[in-house]
Amino acid sequence: MCSRFSGKSAIVTGGAGGIGQAICQKLAEDGAAIVVCDIQLETAEKVAQELIDKGHQAIAVAADISQKTECERVVELTLQAFGSVDLLANNAGINRRGNLLSLTDEDWLTSFDVNLHSMYYLTKAALPHMVEQGSGAIVNTASQWGLYPAPNHIAYNTTKAAVAAFTQNLARDYAPHNVRVNGICPGEVHTPMLEAGVKRAGKNISDLDALVPFGRIGKPEEIANLVAFLLSDEAAFMCGSLVEITGAQAVA
Ligand code: NAD
Repeated sequence: MCSRFSGKSAIVTGGAGGIGQAICQKLAEDGAAIVVCDIQLETAEKVAQELIDKGHQAIAVAADISQKTECERVVELTLQAFGSVDLLANNAGINRRGNLLSLTDEDWLTSFDVNLHSMYYLTKAALPHMVEQGSGAIVNTASQWGLYPAPNHIAYNTTKAAVAAFTQNLARDYAPHNVRVNGICPGEVHTPMLEAGVKRAGKNISDLDALVPFGRIGKPEEIANLVAFLLSDEAAFMCGSLVEITGAQAVA
């Protein structure tokens, strides 16, 4: 059995979602003890139980990570369960569609709370432990749309641009402590989030395949493979990178 994360714990936010479940699965297969963190307790518990049934170590933690105290609790529970915080996949996110005039203030503020402030709170709670132990790896999920904005998603795109900047700043500040921070910028990936967005736009998932030079949109497992690589020692000299994973798709 591959064990590149043997003895390490990994917090995966949005662990009950499409990409998050795939990240939990991949990191567990590679030996990590997983904290499946999500606002959806029932699904998070199901994901954790499936991992346990396969012989992996996992716990589910229900948390609204837009709240500071909830993020601090996630880190405390991780330490209680597994004794260290080694890997952090800041993956949870929401996508509120709209331009500036159609979005509500609540859409805008909640997008920042869930997509960006959660990373600030959770990373701030986890980082002291990584600095103290002299190692750690963090992957923040941004988006291709944070680099090249697609129309009519100003809140989402702006939060993801901020995630990219947050990632590069963290990397600069904590590389000297041997804590590596990288970001991923996926194009479209087949998940519940994308299905909901496509439905709202009156399209089908298959319509999106034609927009990708590779001939199809991404699979959650493909994103999980990249996250696992960036969290692993194989990516030892990668710090502050924003890796696009898009099937060569350009945003229209
Ligand atoms: P998803 O909707 O399937 O999963 C997101 C998960 O985050 C859900 O399980 C949800 O319950 C959880 N979540 C939402 N708000 C939360 C909160 N306040 N506290 C805790 N958990 C919360 O979406 P996905 O497609 O798997 O997206 C995962 C990440 O990838 C997101 O950051 C998303 O922006 C990013 N992304 C997705 C795509 C895509 O095409 N699917 C493309 C680029 C980037």
